[in-house]
Amino acid sequence: MITTINPEDWKVEPIKRISPSRFSNVNDCTLREIWSSNKKENLMGNHPDAVLGSIIHMMFENYVKSSGNFDFENVWSSVEKKFINDNLDVVPLSKTSSYYWVKKELAKRYIEKGQLRTHTKNAVNYKAEEWLESKSKKVGGIIDLIRYNNDQLSLMDFKTGKVYDNDGRIKENYEIQLKLYAALSSENKKTNYKWPDHLFLIDKNGKYCEIKYSEEEASKLLLEAETLLDDINKRINSGSSDAFEFAVTGEYCSFCQFRPACVKFREQPVSFDYLEDIYGEVIDIKEFSNGNHKIYFKNNKSVLINAVYTSGINNEIIELKKMGTGNTLFLLTNCIKNDSMPNQYKASKRTLIFEIVSV
Ligand code: SF4
Repeated sequence: MITTINPEDWKVEPIKRISPSRFSNVNDCTLREIWSSNKKENLMGNHPDAVLGSIIHMMFENYVKSSGNFDFENVWSSVEKKFINDNLDVVPLSKTSSYYWVKKELAKRYIEKGQLRTHTKNAVNYKAEEWLESKSKKVGGIIDLIRYNNDQLSLMDFKTGKVYDNDGRIKENYEIQLKLYAALSSENKKTNYKWPDHLFLIDKNGKYCEIKYSEEEASKLLLEAETLLDDINKRINSGSSDAFEFAVTGEYCSFCQFRPACVKFREQPVSFDYLEDIYGEVIDIKEFSNGNHKIYFKNNKSVLINAVYTSGINNEIIELKKMGTGNTLFLLTNCIKNDSMPNQYKASKRTLIFEIVSV
């Protein structure tokens, strides 16, 4: 089905809360975080790597919560099935995601080595997936694991992506996230209003990476997050800012679920390696005898739809033909560039078609 994007549906509303995991992202593109907080529709589906990351994350959580034997393969297949049902466009995940087998094997080894059990079950007490929020309720989120070991309180978060940056330092956004949770812990009854003794990230290899912090810097970060939320809401409530004044394009747009609705992205497109979104008026659609189609845009660009390889969008092509060519604007996401022929593209398995209503 071709999804119609109507700008009227993409106005911004005040946000209720900033989550520690998203605070750093607000500085990349505030609009994406506002739309996310406003629960706007996910237009692009989830990236296969993000789906695989969520599966591994859930495996760790299930293991921590399990009391007896843990049959890795069985649990994996039911968890994968659950995620696939919600993300049919990433099937087969073993082919669409990067390093599927390696990441699965690493998760298996980590769980079978029993490291998590040592760090959780044998501890005095632990809680998985706990909601922590600030007194003001303006900052809140779910921490993966809280461990109480005698008098020691540790907050832990699982990470399935890279934990370190290119300089070998723990990624800044992860540090900020955990420090914010430390500040939330100091304002929560659940943790006896205690500042944690340790903050850990647990990477996909099971390595514990400790983040050192001071109460002063964590409190400052919390205040920054609360002030940011107030500033954003003030701008939205005053009606003085157009939604797209909150948008800043960058490489991260490739993961943005709202990209087709983003005027800023269409005005200042970012090219993602070998993929590009193609946008404009369609002037012609040719059908070839092998079932392939070619869509020609007014801006001299054209996209080849391979009937077999991209069978998922064949229905949309029929719809597109019915809608006709002319003044309507269309957007085809994630088209593969042709290095030897500029302006010629091939639809990928992740190409979606949108009709863009102009204002
Ligand atoms: S496409 Fe890019 S600029 Fe637009 S909302 Fe998403 S992240 Fe922001």
